[in-house]
Amino acid sequence: MKKNDVSIIGAGLIGSLLGIYLQKRGLDVSIYEKRPDLRDKKYAPAGRSINMALSDRGWKALDKIGLREMVAPYVIPMYGRRVHDEHGETSFLPYGKENQAIYSISRGKFNHMLVDEAERYGAKMNFNHSCEEISIADTAIKVVLPDGTQEYRETDVIIGADGAYSSLRDAMQRQTRLNYKQEYISHGYKELTIPPTAEGEFAMDPNALHIWPRGQFMLIALPNPDKSFTCTLFLPFEGGKVCFDKINDEEDLESVFKTYFADAFALMPDLNKEYFGNPTSSLINVECFPWLANKSMLIGDACHAMVPFFGQGMNCGFEDCFILDGLIEKYGTTSWELVFEKFQKVRKPDTDAISEMARNNFTEMRDSVANPRFLVRKKIEAKLHELYPTEWIPLYTMVTFSDMKYADAYAQGKLQDEVMDKVMEDPMIMQNWQQVDYGAIISQIETARMV
Ligand SMILES: Cc1cc2nc3c(=O)[nH]c(=O)nc-3n(C[C@H](O)[C@H](O)[C@H](O)COP(=O)(O)OP(=O)(O)OC[C@H]3O[C@@H](n4cnc5c(N)ncnc54)[C@H](O)[C@@H]3O)c2cc1C
Repeated sequence: MKKNDVSIIGAGLIGSLLGIYLQKRGLDVSIYEKRPDLRDKKYAPAGRSINMALSDRGWKALDKIGLREMVAPYVIPMYGRRVHDEHGETSFLPYGKENQAIYSISRGKFNHMLVDEAERYGAKMNFNHSCEEISIADTAIKVVLPDGTQEYRETDVIIGADGAYSSLRDAMQRQTRLNYKQEYISHGYKELTIPPTAEGEFAMDPNALHIWPRGQFMLIALPNPDKSFTCTLFLPFEGGKVCFDKINDEEDLESVFKTYFADAFALMPDLNKEYFGNPTSSLINVECFPWLANKSMLIGDACHAMVPFFGQGMNCGFEDCFILDGLIEKYGTTSWELVFEKFQKVRKPDTDAISEMARNNFTEMRDSVANPRFLVRKKIEAKLHELYPTEWIPLYTMVTFSDMKYADAYAQGKLQDEVMDKVMEDPMIMQNWQQVDYGAIISQIETARMV
């Protein structure tokens, strides 16, 4: 009798969530993870306590398998961006309508919960098991076991949820005609912390994503349930007046922080230790196609790693799981080639679109949010959405607070941008923005959609 066992490579956020989905479909899931069990405290990685912004697409994928209640106690809503200028003044830019929020959650804690659940549903977790070689033709994996010995394991299906440096993708590149493109952006990032105050309170407004936009670089901070903030500093690796290459000692570091992030600096007692102790990580965009070969397929960052500036990498990977599960529901658990074909066909245009939007959003975060013209533009768009909720939906709302296909959101966003570019050409727009003819703008977008 056919076993129909599925091997997932990688117990990150996507591999673990997929493990739960597939176990719930009655499949026999084994997950191989090269790292030690992240639930064991002694393996907590230093300087990588990233928190993630969870938004509607992610919640929808959690809802389908009843995980909302488990996750909800560990999230903090962020209703907008709190923008810090160089003088320490702040302004609040809502993400959407009142009560629309994205939710900060610790990646480590989240992954921990998903691994627990996958195990609870019966997935076999294999930590310290690195998949070194994969035979696409035989659907078999050579696994390096914790004692260093190797084992060759045959399986019915392999799904690579093994991240931006995927070993399954690597095997597909060598054994099949997979096309692959990767791009490192000029900037990297480093994790820092703003601890709770001496009174044990949040040092800043906890219900916002804090952002210090400085043109070519920026600092952001997301709240944690322990009342600290995890900050991420994005700088170019080299070139420009402020870059990782030019911060070589405490003096350089203090000078940069006192000049550009003075209010944050005052809240960071461990800055020096953290800055020089934590790793500087790079940011990569990965595109490849096809995502499948024989009975193996890629999912999550393994096939579409993107830069983090739309806060969608994980949400998009969770949506992958949701969509794949829908296809399995429709076509059954024995038609893997068909399911995989349908999956990549429906998903690739969307992941291309969100990757592109994520790249574009970097300029918005590090630069535009400090520009008064940009803020006026956003206010006009918010008003349009309030007056014409279905005719005009801001791009951020389509991506973050809906499950509209990313490619459709991107296309709509481009049309809206063209119309807004014209609105902003009015030389008096900064003074008269409250008097713009909203009805006329809607007519313009409707005409643009018909063309
Ligand atoms: C700074 C930053 C901030 C981000 N913020 C957000 C955000 O706010 N919201 C959001 O939605 N997304 C965000 N993202 C993106 C998000 O982190 C990723 O999209 C997501 O973690 C991808 O999950 P994954 O499971 O596909 O890959 P990964 O998290 O990379 O997991 C892959 C797993 O596979 C394992 N593995 C790799 N190779 C092998 C092998 N050969 N054998 C066995 N195991 C292997 C790895 O050890 C790892 O555990 C951010 C990313 C960064 C870098």
